[in-house]
Order: sequence, then structure tokens, then C-alpha cells
Amino acid sequence: MGIVEYAEEKQKKYQNQLYDVTSNKEYDAITHEIEVQKKEIDEGQNRIIELELSKEENENSLKEYKEELEELDKELKEKEKELKNLLMTTEQKELELNQMREKIVVRLDKPILKKYERIRSAKNGIAVVPIERDACGGCFKTIPPQNIVEVEKLNKLHQCEVCGRILVPENELDKLPI
Ligand SMILES: [Zn+2]
Repeated sequence: MGIVEYAEEKQKKYQNQLYDVTSNKEYDAITHEIEVQKKEIDEGQNRIIELELSKEENENSLKEYKEELEELDKELKEKEKELKNLLMTTEQKELELNQMREKIVVRLDKPILKKYERIRSAKNGIAVVPIERDACGGCFKTIPPQNIVEVEKLNKLHQCEVCGRILVPENELDKLPI
């Protein structure tokens, strides 16, 4: 039995007692009890309304959270898909570059290859840089015009005087099929 029903039962009981009262004092006491029970019924009913309202609120915010979560989950899955595609493209590119490298390496003179490998391991894997805006694309040191002319002839290896990387003309790397 709920608190409201209990209070209602009690109220009914007191109300029945009112018919049997013999004194004013008794009458007042019972009336008072009835008032107390009425108050309890009201409070109980208000509490039920409050609980129902907050239940509704909670259900609404729970629904919102669920929707948000679903949205985030969807975004995450899309990002994972993008990343997977990106990795596949990168792997494909790496494979192509490695194949190209192998073809070039067999055609290179041993001393040049050795020099290239030495620079590459000393310079974080980048041994060949283009001349960009009349400067070394690796260390950005300005290159004198007569040296740029020499590099553009492409008839021997030219290294940057500062960082030692092999210099190639500005657009030379763009010609690579990558
Ligand atoms: Zn340099």
C-alpha cells in the first residue's frame, strides 16, 4: 500500500470515528487527525507529481544522450573508414616508390649510391632537395646564381655547401611520377 492510500485509509477511519464522538475534546482531536492525514495525502500526491516530472525529464535527457552517443559513434566509424583508406593509399604509394627506387638504384654508379646513402642517413632520410627561390630546399641557404646554373645542367652531382644535401633544379622532383 502506498503512502497516499495509507493516509486515505486512516482519514476514512477517523471520519467514521467522528460519528461516535461523545465530547468536544474528542471531536477536536479526531478533526485534527483528519487534517494531518489530509496534509499527508496532499504532500504525497505532490511528491508523486514531482517524481513523475523528473522521471520524464530524465527520460528526455537519456534520449538526448543516446542520440548524441549514436551521432559520435557514427562519426567515429566514418573517421576509421577515412583513416583506413588513407593508410591503404599511403601503403600503395610506398610500394610504388620502392619499386621505382629499385629500378633507379641498379642504374646508379656505386660511389654515387654510397654518397647518397651516407647523406640520407645523416639528414633524416632526405638526401636530395630542390633549389627553391634560389636557396637550398633543405637548409634554406641562398645558392649563388652561377651554382644554380651548374645544377641546372644536370651533368654532375652538386651538394649544398652548408648541409651537404644533393641539389636538383627547382622543378626536377615534380617530374617524378608520384
Ligand atoms: Zn643546404
